Amino acid sequence: MAAPTGTPDQPWDLVVVGAGPAGATAAIAARHARPEARVLLLDRSDFPRDKACGDGIAPHVLDVLDRFGLGDVVDDWAPVPDLELARGDLLTRGTMRRPARVVPRAVFDARLVDAACDAGAQLRRHRVRHVEPHQDGVVLDDTIHAKVVIGADGASSVVRRQLGRPPARRRALAIRGYAPTRRDHDGLQVIRFGQRRQPSYAWAFDRGDGLSNIGYGELVQPGADLTRAVMLDRLDELLPGVAQDAADWRGHHLPLSEARWHQPDGPVLLVGDAAGLINPMTGEGIYYAVATGALAGAVAAVSAPGAAGERHRILVRRLLARHLLSTTIGSRLAERPGVLDGGLRAATADQRVFDDLVEMGLGRGVLTPRVLAGLARSVRPFARRGPTLHVPAG
Ligand SMILES: Cc1cc2nc3c(=O)[nH]c(=O)nc-3n(C[C@H](O)[C@H](O)[C@H](O)COP(=O)(O)OP(=O)(O)OC[C@H]3O[C@@H](n4cnc5c(N)ncnc54)[C@H](O)[C@@H]3O)c2cc1C
Repeated sequence: MAAPTGTPDQPWDLVVVGAGPAGATAAIAARHARPEARVLLLDRSDFPRDKACGDGIAPHVLDVLDRFGLGDVVDDWAPVPDLELARGDLLTRGTMRRPARVVPRAVFDARLVDAACDAGAQLRRHRVRHVEPHQDGVVLDDTIHAKVVIGADGASSVVRRQLGRPPARRRALAIRGYAPTRRDHDGLQVIRFGQRRQPSYAWAFDRGDGLSNIGYGELVQPGADLTRAVMLDRLDELLPGVAQDAADWRGHHLPLSEARWHQPDGPVLLVGDAAGLINPMTGEGIYYAVATGALAGAVAAVSAPGAAGERHRILVRRLLARHLLSTTIGSRLAERPGVLDGGLRAATADQRVFDDLVEMGLGRGVLTPRVLAGLARSVRPFARRGPTLHVPAG
């Protein structure tokens, strides 16, 4: 009889901690890279499970999943082509080059977990508490032995903590609920920026099934008392009445990415929120989760334990370094009075600037000369004279 997998003699090739989009994609990618790889996917929850999120699935997410034959995983949810961005009485509205989808995470994540199981990963309910890397692999909770471990356990990652990695320096806090879609929000993702330090905005994302995902989030500032009541008040200020008849409130913090991204050497790889990868301009993280999950899964399947961390670091930096630098600069610029307004004006004036900003906010776009030129044109004169462009609010 074959020895049971996961013992010191017969370790799992890969154990993935956390079965959200990052972890499920990692498990799928590992089996894709090496179909005989023994892959265990652990999560503290049973699926389907809910997760605090705006549920916005960028088309870039589906590009990554398409590599594994899963590009159609949410095709039965309505495409949401239009994006409306506003602050005060400045408003820009455009059709994105490719539509997003707004899919409850209870649905999306469960589908990815099913796909991981179909690909041959084993799913087990287990909350990981202890991670012990050693020369030839990793031991989890003294009992589960693996050659490589992927930490995909989200914003409060135990794996990250046990590696001694500090928590993200910049964090946002956000709350979401579900409410009937207002007629004027049909087919739309609506974002209303607040007056506070960015990112701070309310949103209403039409799911296309009669309900919208609505919410509010902002950058956490030292000493700020960002309670649920405060956040719901701010949501109501920015999108009056949208939360009427809302239910299923759920909130969480978001570790925002910085220009420099780090991954230690060794057999433990970090992906998605556990790796501190949330866009500081928009709060989007699902694209990074699947993109880094896909890279880590493939690396884990084919690398010696000691080489995996370095390889993952190189690949993630190759994919995201320029983008992370751009979003860090973009988010810092947006903290300055007038720059965010300038960006909205520039996007209104030129659809290509709108498209470039969408790429930065949802995918891995960079600050293009076009965006910088648009900002230079839109920020300076208006900053002196005050806003003159008025587009009627929706
Ligand atoms: C309110 C809000 C709105 C957002 N809106 C959007 C949006 O519209 N679009 C977007 O792209 N991003 C959005 N984000 C960010 C997005 O939710 C995350 O970036 C994304 O979920 C990251 O995926 P992940 O797989 O890394 O982590 P998660 O989705 O958090 O998955 C982590 C998994 O690990 C499991 N786990 C945790 N600890 C353990 C443990 N110790 N042992 C075993 N399992 C464990 C959890 O149960 C969970 O299933 C939003 C975030 C918030 C809070």
